[in-house]
Amino acid sequence: MKIGKSLYAFLLLFCCLTAVGFANTQPLAKKGVVDLRRQSFFEKIPLDGQWCFYWHQLINPNDTTKHNACIVDFPFKWNGFSLRGETLPSFGYATYQLTVLLPSKTPPLSLSVPDAYCAYRLYLNGKMVAEDGRVSNTPEGFEAHWQNNIVDVPTGVDTLKVVLQIANFVHSKGGISKSIVIGERRMIDLSRRRSEAIDLLLTGCLFMGGLFFLGLYIFGNRDKAILLFSLYSIVYSYRIIGVNNYELHTILPDISWYVTIRLEYISLFAGIGLFGLYTLYLYPRDIYKPIVYVIGSICFLFSAASAVLPPLYFTQLINPFLIVTVFCLVFIPYVYIKAYRNKRPGSGYALASSFSLMVVFSISLFHYWAIIGPLQLLNFAGYVSFFFLQSLILSHRVSFALKRARAQAEQGLKAKSEFLSTMSHEIRTPLNSVIGMSHLLLKTNPRPDQVEHLDVMLFSANNLLAIVNDILDYNKIEAGKIVFEHTEMDIASIAGNIVAGLQNSANDKGIGLKLQVDSALNNKVIGDPTRLFQVISNLVHNAIKFTQAGGVEVGITVKGQTEHDVTLSIWVKDTGIGISKDKQKLIFERFTQADSSTSRGFGGTGLGLAISKRILELQNSTLQLESEEGKGSTFYFIQTFLKSIKTVEQLKKEDNLPKEDNKPFTGIHILLVEDNPMNVLVAQKFLQRWGADIDVAANGLEALNKLDISKHQLVLMDLHMPVMDGYESARNIRAQGISIPIIALTANLPGEIQLKVKEAGIDDIMVKPFLPDELYRKVLHYI
Ligand code: ADP
Repeated sequence: MKIGKSLYAFLLLFCCLTAVGFANTQPLAKKGVVDLRRQSFFEKIPLDGQWCFYWHQLINPNDTTKHNACIVDFPFKWNGFSLRGETLPSFGYATYQLTVLLPSKTPPLSLSVPDAYCAYRLYLNGKMVAEDGRVSNTPEGFEAHWQNNIVDVPTGVDTLKVVLQIANFVHSKGGISKSIVIGERRMIDLSRRRSEAIDLLLTGCLFMGGLFFLGLYIFGNRDKAILLFSLYSIVYSYRIIGVNNYELHTILPDISWYVTIRLEYISLFAGIGLFGLYTLYLYPRDIYKPIVYVIGSICFLFSAASAVLPPLYFTQLINPFLIVTVFCLVFIPYVYIKAYRNKRPGSGYALASSFSLMVVFSISLFHYWAIIGPLQLLNFAGYVSFFFLQSLILSHRVSFALKRARAQAEQGLKAKSEFLSTMSHEIRTPLNSVIGMSHLLLKTNPRPDQVEHLDVMLFSANNLLAIVNDILDYNKIEAGKIVFEHTEMDIASIAGNIVAGLQNSANDKGIGLKLQVDSALNNKVIGDPTRLFQVISNLVHNAIKFTQAGGVEVGITVKGQTEHDVTLSIWVKDTGIGISKDKQKLIFERFTQADSSTSRGFGGTGLGLAISKRILELQNSTLQLESEEGKGSTFYFIQTFLKSIKTVEQLKKEDNLPKEDNKPFTGIHILLVEDNPMNVLVAQKFLQRWGADIDVAANGLEALNKLDISKHQLVLMDLHMPVMDGYESARNIRAQGISIPIIALTANLPGEIQLKVKEAGIDDIMVKPFLPDELYRKVLHYI
């Protein structure tokens, strides 16, 4: 309904404009004379009306002999005109004559003379004042050219004898189709300059807009609609300065008429074709494709014809092409309305632009039929709003595509992290059993050969665990899910533990492994011990891995300290294979190793350094490297930590745990809730070794039934179980007002489930596969 009303309003407006065009109150020439003696010349006056016309004669203005004139309606194209029973051809030459009666006193006057088909010479009172191309009565002497001229009217005359000689030997039309206009010189000049300014501005807009969209296509998402629109803008920008006012011919006066006429027609045909195709790619589901293909083919054929045929032939294509243009004028808005109804992206703008398009096309058409003047300002506004609205459609389209791509990427990322999380659960659970059982077997006095086998098994299982953890970690860091702990930690003892833990590996390779701690470091600091452990042990691991002789040194140096914080340089130095300069940046990328043979020679995934680097970056530190190929490497980072109030001495006292062998859990009853029998076996074996009594429940519901607060001091609760999961079971326990400590057993990473665990009233998390030491400490802490 709204659309109908708007269309109605548009038609009404257009009829008014047309009426304005028709309302010509200016005097017309009669029998070769126009009387302007009572005119003010403030408005431009077209010298239209009855002119004398001399076919096949180029009359010299000073020639006084009587010639046979006929009267024609100026502006007059002679082709097809019937003169004394003869139909005039397009090729030929003629003279037009008009006498203008002027007031005795006038302000300085000028004539604005348009282009003619296809060369003219203009005389005023016997003097030649303008020439466009070369007029001749033979094709050989003739030369076509199109340009607008402004000619000064001689001053102090009351009669103006206008003689216009026109010749054509190239175009399918002959004569002149636009009015010669007379007016005050100032105003004619101004109006001309205004037209040129508008044309140049519009060309600039279209051309630059076209280039911008071309760039967007080349460097962007290769959307064909964008490409076609950019080509359309560029092609059409030519039409603004290459047609009508012919500014291009003023800028490049030597350009051949044969080139410009071809460009004029090609830009028209190709422009419409490109726009049709653009609409097809813009709203493919709202358009009847065969129509566009037909229009496109016609445009292509006509363009090709304009490129190769002589102008006499291709200039005749304009009339049949008008049908195509008028059809597009109806068809394209129809497609836009359809797209709007189907709620396509940016179709609101498309609909609005079709109104502008109608204004522009209608002005061009009606002006071509000489029904209205050029209405340049309205035309300009129409063009600018049309191109602006089209740009909005494309911008909308680009941002729509980006949004969709982003949503898809986010979905993919989510799927990836869900997949990894499931995988981690699935892989870690059986690993839990393998590692747990290996530990257990090692503690049951195995034979020396069995110890060796068990060590290999434990080593491989731990390796596998490290890889799974690395992949998970990297994924987590990338997804921005990493949360750092802020707890008290003793950096020296963390480094000490790492060195002690890896001493055997170093010994096996026959290299030294030393720790050097600055004696100025005597405070615990606040930080994330797990992450720090991960970074240092990564570096030490690598150092040992890539060193065949010499040794590895781990050091902590105090770089500076205040009352509240301490800045430490933590470094790992080796005398290994080193890293060449060109590889030094590369190795911090994920899955990248300095040498592709590395993984074959030394193993590894290429993730360790990438993870360590990100972990440090997220804590405002940078992992740095100094290395020389063949001589060794030093990896180091400088980080500032807040100091804790506790000293290292106090910490050592706190860490004095009772010995495992003394069965410190004797008399303690623990409820173990776990559905996986292997996990039950592992946990049970350890806990029983330490003296605890274990009751087992296979799911959350069974746990609720089995829990006896007069007996149990701790619940170890798996989270993923059939019947009732760990969260619900814990919530039920808390709902009954029972405050017994509950430790969750999970293969997930703590960060992922922390919130949910807290909400369920669970006190702590043990990540599976658990290290016996960690299980021992945690249980001890809660009992
Ligand atoms: P991975 O060790 O699992 O391959 P990293 O990210 O830890 O992955 O290391 C990436 C690469 O950096 C290694 O493959 C190796 O080429 C190089 N690199 C790391 N540390 C050292 C070192 N201390 N000496 C020599 N090369 C090293």
